[in-house]
Amino acid sequence: MTSRAENDFGPDGEVFDVERIRALFPILAQRPGGQPLVYLDNAATTQKPLPVLNTLSRYYANENANIHRGVYGLSQRATDAYEGARAKMARFLNAAEPAEVVFTRNATEGINLVAQTFGRQRVTADDEVVISAMEHHSNIVPWQLLCEEKGAQLRVVPISDSGELMLDELASMLGPRTKLVSIVHMSNSLGTINPVRRVVELAHAQGVPVLLDGSQAAYHMPVDVQALECDFYVVTGHKLYGPTGIGALYGRRSWLEAMPPYQGGGDMISSVTFERTTYNEVPHKFEAGTPHIAGVVGLGAAVDFIESVGFSAIVEHERQLLAYATTALEAVPGLRLIGTAPEKASILSFVLDGVHAHDVGTVVDTQGVAIRTGHHCTQPVMERFSVPATARASLAMYNTTTEIDQLVTALATVREVFG
Ligand SMILES: *Cc1c(COP(=O)(O)O)cnc(C)c1O
Repeated sequence: MTSRAENDFGPDGEVFDVERIRALFPILAQRPGGQPLVYLDNAATTQKPLPVLNTLSRYYANENANIHRGVYGLSQRATDAYEGARAKMARFLNAAEPAEVVFTRNATEGINLVAQTFGRQRVTADDEVVISAMEHHSNIVPWQLLCEEKGAQLRVVPISDSGELMLDELASMLGPRTKLVSIVHMSNSLGTINPVRRVVELAHAQGVPVLLDGSQAAYHMPVDVQALECDFYVVTGHKLYGPTGIGALYGRRSWLEAMPPYQGGGDMISSVTFERTTYNEVPHKFEAGTPHIAGVVGLGAAVDFIESVGFSAIVEHERQLLAYATTALEAVPGLRLIGTAPEKASILSFVLDGVHAHDVGTVVDTQGVAIRTGHHCTQPVMERFSVPATARASLAMYNTTTEIDQLVTALATVREVFG
């Protein structure tokens, strides 16, 4: 297989033109209260470009039919569009083959699928599942449920004051009882990019498989599951500039073959009698019922779009923007950044002295600036840094330095209001 970088067909050598990118996102032209919309909540969900919107409407207008069943032309076209998108996602993650991509509703469902199939099959009493202190709730609760059911232990790798995973602690937790390591690739509340290749090396040295939560990483950097050698990788479509309600799980074929089905129903079977049902092949075994066909097709358009811009351009643009924003926010009196790992991307979590995060969010919203406030579905991270909540500005390929300036101006208003 070629490496992910060689697959990149972005306009290398061309200057990245953020205004040209912005013009593809109709929602960014909105002017709430007469001011330009400054959308800085990309870690919650990203906006959708015209190629994705047009693909969705073209699909419903021209190709809609149920898949994998009809012998008529329209159904075959819908099936081709659906399976074509699977091939695109496989290429995007550099999976060895499209059959290693299972479509899910979102990242949460991808993790639950692994917990309920792989986990229920392999984890028994006193076994251990290892996660980290910076996980999203969707990479905590499915494992808690599993561990409760099986009488197993959830082990949590601590993080440093700057928000880095403590690798030595992780290494010391691995042992014969460890059945899985499940770790976030890039944190949604701190921005930390974890050394996931190293995590996989450490775990595999003990024979322990690894799931990576790529919900954030996948739209900020190229992902190559073969180079990472991970066993599972989950992504969520709505953060990849794609539709809501669709996600993907990468699983190594050998695991997918060995795992029992997730849900029962149509399409996941090869034959059914009341005595015995045999299951369809991988990946269809894990896709019971009529899937979100339009969502899959839209997600295919989204990864095409990302690749057409190219990760080399996206990474560089967001790197410059993060550096600019970090300097600008550090200059705001009384502001403290939470999450200062040297390896981080596109996320600025902060607290402002004497002002609750919710008040920060509410006041900057009156200036047209959309940021997220709260615990970001990572309550243990808030506890780790002894804050009830943070305000979080999170960047995407269409954000600009002007928008960072608008955020900083809006933060000055917060100071005026709260003294
Ligand atoms: C958004 C996010 C999730 C959950 O994604 P859903 O689309 O809600 O399933 C999980 N992990 C991380 C790191 C996230 O940022």
